[in-house]
Amino acid sequence: MPRLHRPTSLAEAARLLSTLDNPMVYGGGTAIQILVKQGILFADNFVDLAGVPGLRDVSVDAGGVTVGPMVTVRRMETDPEVRQVVPLASAAYRQVANPRVRNTASVGGNIAHGDYRLDPPTALLVLGATVRATSVRGTRDIPIREFFVDFQVTALEPDELVSGIRIPAQPAGASRFEKNSSLGENDWPCASASVLVAAGRVQIGLGAVAPTPRYVTFDAAGLDDQGAVDAALAAIEPALDPIPDVRGGVAYKRRLARVTVEDAVRGAWKDLQDA
Ligand SMILES: Cc1cc2nc3c(=O)[nH]c(=O)nc-3n(C[C@H](O)[C@H](O)[C@H](O)COP(=O)(O)OP(=O)(O)OC[C@H]3O[C@@H](n4cnc5c(N)ncnc54)[C@H](O)[C@@H]3O)c2cc1C
Repeated sequence: MPRLHRPTSLAEAARLLSTLDNPMVYGGGTAIQILVKQGILFADNFVDLAGVPGLRDVSVDAGGVTVGPMVTVRRMETDPEVRQVVPLASAAYRQVANPRVRNTASVGGNIAHGDYRLDPPTALLVLGATVRATSVRGTRDIPIREFFVDFQVTALEPDELVSGIRIPAQPAGASRFEKNSSLGENDWPCASASVLVAAGRVQIGLGAVAPTPRYVTFDAAGLDDQGAVDAALAAIEPALDPIPDVRGGVAYKRRLARVTVEDAVRGAWKDLQDA
């Protein structure tokens, strides 16, 4: 029977992760509960972060937003300051699963989960977020663009926990998050895309279309809306490597990725022209 540990400080949580047998961080538990019930996931010791002070804090300054790992996905969706400073990220968090999951799931658990279909990483990649990782050896910052290493593998060491996420303020321009699911509105995406058009560049984060979330960028100079769509479709092509499953085959997912990106780019371009 696994044991549940409830540290009251970050240092204690890090120490537990480095000393216990087969430990696992317990964030919101929304993924853990399902995977344990399915017999896919095993841990001898769960280290629950719920009682560690400060991990539910959100602080906003001129440069961006610093988010504690136990902040809920729902807070990222609804917090007025988060919505104002990083609207693209807030829009992506708003599309995670359903309100019941969003009320419980944590931002730290969301990225640490490392699932290739996650929605928020698409926006975090575009905005150039940084993941703060803590262990008994100290704290280090991992650029989000280096965080997703392989299929369900992140850059976290086994004894490291996500202790924060820093999201730089979104620059002036236009952004869109688009998501398409094939089994239902609240289901995992078959393809999702965050697009930011700012400072003469188009940046695109892709979810669910490859074994890890993907990031591409290109110069926006001289492009009209159709030119931007054409350039975006050419830019994402090498990044597409869909995994066939119950939600669709490879050809379907490639097609849906292109449709999703086209919608997001056209939407952002329209917002830019209308501004
Ligand atoms: C029905 C359902 C539908 C979903 N649909 C979507 C969707 O459409 N889009 C989407 O993006 N996501 C979706 N999700 C995933 C959901 O976002 C994740 O379950 C959630 O983000 C995980 O967060 P959690 O805090 O509950 O993590 P947990 O379940 O607590 O943990 C998940 C993993 O992360 C690790 N972990 C947790 N916190 C930390 C930390 N601070 N540091 C290091 N490791 C940590 C755990 O050890 C575990 O390996 C869905 C989930 C469910 C159950």
